[in-house]
Amino acid sequence: MTAQLIDGNALSRQLRSEVAERALALKARGTTPGLAVVLVGDNPASQVYVRNKVKACHEAGLHSVLEQYPAELSETELLARVHALNNDPAIHGILVQLPLPAHIDAQKVIEAISPAKDVDGFHMASAGALMTGMPGFWPCTPYGCMKMLESIGYDLRGKHAVVIGRSNIVGKPMALMLLAQDATVTVCHSRTKDLKAQTLQADVIVAAVGKRNVLTADMVKPGAVVLDVGMNRNDEGKLCGDVDFDGVKAVASHITPVPGGVGPMTITMLLVNTLEAAERSAPH
Ligand code: NAP
Repeated sequence: MTAQLIDGNALSRQLRSEVAERALALKARGTTPGLAVVLVGDNPASQVYVRNKVKACHEAGLHSVLEQYPAELSETELLARVHALNNDPAIHGILVQLPLPAHIDAQKVIEAISPAKDVDGFHMASAGALMTGMPGFWPCTPYGCMKMLESIGYDLRGKHAVVIGRSNIVGKPMALMLLAQDATVTVCHSRTKDLKAQTLQADVIVAAVGKRNVLTADMVKPGAVVLDVGMNRNDEGKLCGDVDFDGVKAVASHITPVPGGVGPMTITMLLVNTLEAAERSAPH
């Protein structure tokens, strides 16, 4: 068997054009969706991420502002910026790029963002909304994974999903989203005793670890769907995921590549959340 690719670039193009259409309709009613991206310090990877986010906004017809501050910015000053953005009617979504410098309490900054503008979905209110099935913003990466499953018409009801990784931004929300669609969910992590015994039971596997080859072909049940969230570098310095792609694609029914899989979907779902925030705030 050779797995079918779930193409994150193609799906992103489709979803982003839908965002652009809805943004245009909202503009016609007097509201231009706006995203503020706040970057503190000069982490090169973060600079690339924020540039890509701002570019994606412009391409979809969303207003976006990039606020860049030196690494020495104090926590108080950053909180003041967040409060100002909370009160800015042109801004519907606020994203503070992580990681923040060590002297700033990232959680405190996230909690300062208005839940109505928390398009990253990291605020406690967003996490609580996801857990209780209330309206809120879902974290973009697991949300993107759900869209990928939807794109292949996958019915999660009664299926066994194994999530590898339990971070607040990927693994845990991923597990809750799968559970909400009636999957039976197992969450694995660094203390899991026998990872292979777990993954071999899975109809769907989401790998969100940050280590190459965490998932190899012998760990995958034939026909399983494999989503690779990991972003790592191989020996040649090329971007790769957590999954041994060449091996696993011979066993799985569907697989996401890295690059071109979950990565572009993460930015796409940020646009979707920003648009949604603007639509919710717009006068009817
Ligand atoms: P994280 O906070 O470092 O969490 C990693 C998780 O993996 C932890 O729960 C850890 O377990 C678990 N783990 C570590 N080693 C393991 C092992 N050998 N077996 C099983 N579980 C293991 O990372 P994250 O923020 O969730 O991100 C995970 C990966 O996704 C990274 O490569 C990151 O770059 C990538 N990512 C990609 C996107 C995208 O857009 N494509 C977005 C976000 C993240 P413990 O909890 O026990 O430590």
